[in-house]
Amino acid sequence: MFIFDAHLDMAWNATEWVRDLMLPAAKIREFEQHYDKIIPGPCTVSWPELHGGRVGLIIATLLPRHHRKDKPLTFPQSREACYAMAHGQLAYYQAMTARGVLREIPDKAALNQHVDEWLALPAGDLPMGQPPIGFILSMEGSTPILYPEQIADWYQAGLRLLGPAHYGPGPYCFGTGSEGGFNEDGKRMLREMDRVGMLLDVTHLADESFWDAMKIYQGPCIASHHNCRSLVPADRQLTDEQIKELIRRGSVIGAAFDNWMIRPGWKIGVSDPSTVQMTHIVDHIDHICQLAGNANHCGMGTDLDGGFGKEQSPSDLDTIADLGKMAELLAARGYSTDDVERIMWRNFVEFFRRAWK
Ligand SMILES: [Zn+2]
Repeated sequence: MFIFDAHLDMAWNATEWVRDLMLPAAKIREFEQHYDKIIPGPCTVSWPELHGGRVGLIIATLLPRHHRKDKPLTFPQSREACYAMAHGQLAYYQAMTARGVLREIPDKAALNQHVDEWLALPAGDLPMGQPPIGFILSMEGSTPILYPEQIADWYQAGLRLLGPAHYGPGPYCFGTGSEGGFNEDGKRMLREMDRVGMLLDVTHLADESFWDAMKIYQGPCIASHHNCRSLVPADRQLTDEQIKELIRRGSVIGAAFDNWMIRPGWKIGVSDPSTVQMTHIVDHIDHICQLAGNANHCGMGTDLDGGFGKEQSPSDLDTIADLGKMAELLAARGYSTDDVERIMWRNFVEFFRRAWK
């Protein structure tokens, strides 16, 4: 089955964690065994794993993390350095595109052509690059956006989606683990996004920032990698009120595959990974479908290898090539073939078809 994954930090893995993503995950794990401490854990995503699992379309991020005082010094301390790093990550995607592994999907025509090509493929193994994996360019956190009007330059560079927040306070608003709304520059940036057609990703917005964005930003939005707070209480998850607002706006919410966002009380580095399986992700998807009264607002947004590895992912997933098992689990939960297809790829594809009309 063709699959859409709405959140993968591929360039970050290639540049910051220095991975050769042309290797199968097993080879990357083998290589990293020779080092004392590898952060994040065992690799689950690479280009061959995606291609082999028929994850033919992804939202790929630029993720230059900004240094925070309470963390070890591992990230750039100036926004200009984040700006430079984001361009470095963009250059990685461009180089992989030139190599024929990736294909940039910047508009509706490219999207339709790409999806048609993948849907027409025969069953069985596919040679890498035939066809390329499509990517829609996104940014997680807004530290590389040096001033609100720079949104237009980033759009020109190919950026189509922006998640203004990541962890903690950011230059324009507040993210996971912090509290507050958009500042004046942030409000200007949201209006600039509307003007330019830069789509909004609400994932990681602190509650007050979320509701500010819903008031100020008028365009289409998604929650790329986001589960339900009523199942896992913590500010990283969406409240039912937030989910209802996203449903009202025709949004799609991607299910996140990070264990602490899947089961309540699961602690990073402490809890047993075997206590989380992909069926627990179906619980979150089902909760959103019950609130919506349909299966039109859910998708995959795994965030696999987003700062963690196999040790923090559902235990019945070895690599992202196993993502197709979600289709079987959804069917076993009573979802129709049509609904399963919607959740595995169609809802996100249709979202972009509407957004890019
Ligand atoms: Zn994230």
